[in-house]
Amino acid sequence: MTLDNMVQDYRSGAALSLPDGHFINNRFVSGSTGQRMESFDPGLGEAFATFALGQQADIDAAIEAAKRGYEIWRKVSPAERCAMLLKIAVVLRANADRLALIETLDSGKTLGEAQGDVAGSARLFEYYAGAADKLDGRSVNLGPDYTAFTRREPIGVTAHIIPWNYPTSTFARGVAPALAAGCSVVAKPAETTPFTALIMAELMADAGLPEGVVNVVTGLGREAGAALVADPRVRHITFTGSVATGVAVTQAAAPNVTRLTLELGGKSPLVAFADADAEKVAEDATWAIFSNAGQICSAGSRLIVQRALRDEVMDRLLSKAKAIKFGHGLSGADMGAINSDLHLGRIAAHVDAAKARGCDVATGGQVAKDPETGKGWFYEPTVIADLPAEDPTVQDEIFGPVLAVQVFDSEDEALALANGTEFGLMASVYTRDIGRALRLSGELNSGQVTVNEYWAGGIELPFGGNGKSGYGREKGIEGLDAYTTTKSVTVSNY
Ligand code: NAD
Repeated sequence: MTLDNMVQDYRSGAALSLPDGHFINNRFVSGSTGQRMESFDPGLGEAFATFALGQQADIDAAIEAAKRGYEIWRKVSPAERCAMLLKIAVVLRANADRLALIETLDSGKTLGEAQGDVAGSARLFEYYAGAADKLDGRSVNLGPDYTAFTRREPIGVTAHIIPWNYPTSTFARGVAPALAAGCSVVAKPAETTPFTALIMAELMADAGLPEGVVNVVTGLGREAGAALVADPRVRHITFTGSVATGVAVTQAAAPNVTRLTLELGGKSPLVAFADADAEKVAEDATWAIFSNAGQICSAGSRLIVQRALRDEVMDRLLSKAKAIKFGHGLSGADMGAINSDLHLGRIAAHVDAAKARGCDVATGGQVAKDPETGKGWFYEPTVIADLPAEDPTVQDEIFGPVLAVQVFDSEDEALALANGTEFGLMASVYTRDIGRALRLSGELNSGQVTVNEYWAGGIELPFGGNGKSGYGREKGIEGLDAYTTTKSVTVSNY
């Protein structure tokens, strides 16, 4: 069936073919209690499906499956693991239309964004396929009396707590390197976006992945999620989400000394000097914050602009923000919906508080509906101008289409503003002065720095944060570190 036909079917109210139950041991199983929850299409604000609410018993079953799956998968040769990851990439690409459609309905993002996420997910499997057979140890010279070497071994059963803003690609970002390393997986998708992880796990089974290697349990964070991260059989947790939940996950993991990768969001600055191209700065700042309706951990949520460039950039930025068409993800709109009613309320509360403090909301600042249907959960593209460093709009992660603008005079001031939050995920510098760009790339407190293009990068580069943005690195060769442990072997040559 073509994508157009699938979209027409959905619009005409035909039932979608969706996975039902948890995916354990390569098959769908109904939940232990029969409890279910509705999943909403944020572009309409209406429920379109239900899914199982997993409990401790479902997590138990999935972890037991993953333990057995691990014993099989860790012994599969690296060359065969490589071949399997390549096959998974092929089946993901072959099912890209269905995955992108379901992702749009579950998350509220635009179809184009969802298609990009699915393509990126397939690419993650290709990238880590190439790494599966290169996880070599090294020979260590202890002198003539010994032969010593290291082995990189898989860590075991790994847990993956998936957020709702990038359900497909965050799942792939953790699962692909885990499989390359020889680990098995239990994943818990977010409660508002349960479906694509289930579909991808089924596709991996179709590709020939052995039983129990990848398992998915849907449900609430405080139930299924909490049970998964507190389990001593889990040897690594990859968590993406809020700081508060990241702290709770860390506390749950501590008694078992379970390893963690934490990806907790940010308040990332785009720092524009007076010698930068005003149009490029305005265009990049627009899509740094309004892509995915600002629901991106590495969104460019602060524009820090030198005074001489401020007016020109603001004029261009405001006209771009006002021209953005938001609407249902299948409507061809530039910007999609906010993932949940609850989260829309959080965004509105942040901006309403800014208004009450007297902040200058230069455009936007209102909850909105899809202009075509009068339905859905939307927030206007919003720019708040000339904010002081301590304002909560500058300090707090709003995780929506809200840009905070700050003005600076000197390079030192720009650096102090850029580094002036508790986060450190991403930063971007716009200048024609190569010395300044390189100087700031060293001084900015963030896991990655881009120069003269906000989203410059790719899955080949390590990604992760400093400070309250978390720790550990995903993507790139460094993304394998979480899923391996180094063993030293020493032989006496007597
Ligand atoms: P959250 O952190 O509560 O949820 C993220 C994931 O954690 C979900 O799968 C959830 O089910 C799970 N979870 C929740 N409680 C858990 C627990 N006790 N143990 C294990 N897993 C648990 O995020 P949210 O409430 O959906 O969103 C709130 C804020 O989180 C947003 O405003 C945003 O700042 C941030 N957020 C960041 C990212 C990111 O990419 N860094 C993604 C989503 C949300």
